[in-house]
Amino acid sequence: MSENIIQPILFKSQKSGESAPAEMHAIDFTPQEQKARGLKTLALFWAIAIVCVLIPIAHFFLVPGFLIGGIVAAKRRWERAREGIEANGSCPVCKHTIHIDLEKNGEIPQWRDCPECGEALELQAAADKD
Ligand SMILES: [Zn+2]
Repeated sequence: MSENIIQPILFKSQKSGESAPAEMHAIDFTPQEQKARGLKTLALFWAIAIVCVLIPIAHFFLVPGFLIGGIVAAKRRWERAREGIEANGSCPVCKHTIHIDLEKNGEIPQWRDCPECGEALELQAAADKD
């Protein structure tokens, strides 16, 4: 079963270097789930490729595009063991409580802008502060 996890992280300002504690909400997938998600993505892309066979002229680009794109997208999804949901904490610059949508990216570090003040923030693991 996939597992919801909360990982302690830091919001670090790129300009001032100040950081504030935050937490990242994410989902960890088991290897079986990763495989199932990858295969589902592949099936979806290939189904679209089959439908595209019916479109005159454009099928010369669409069919190989979806066949190859499906493999690339499926591989990427298969390899993704963690999917980020959101990061919550306070901005080290404007001090507002902020929520950052991680758009499924569960990798640390990643770089985002503060939704309140627009400051560039680095989301880093709480363990490797410098
Ligand atoms: Zn801010």
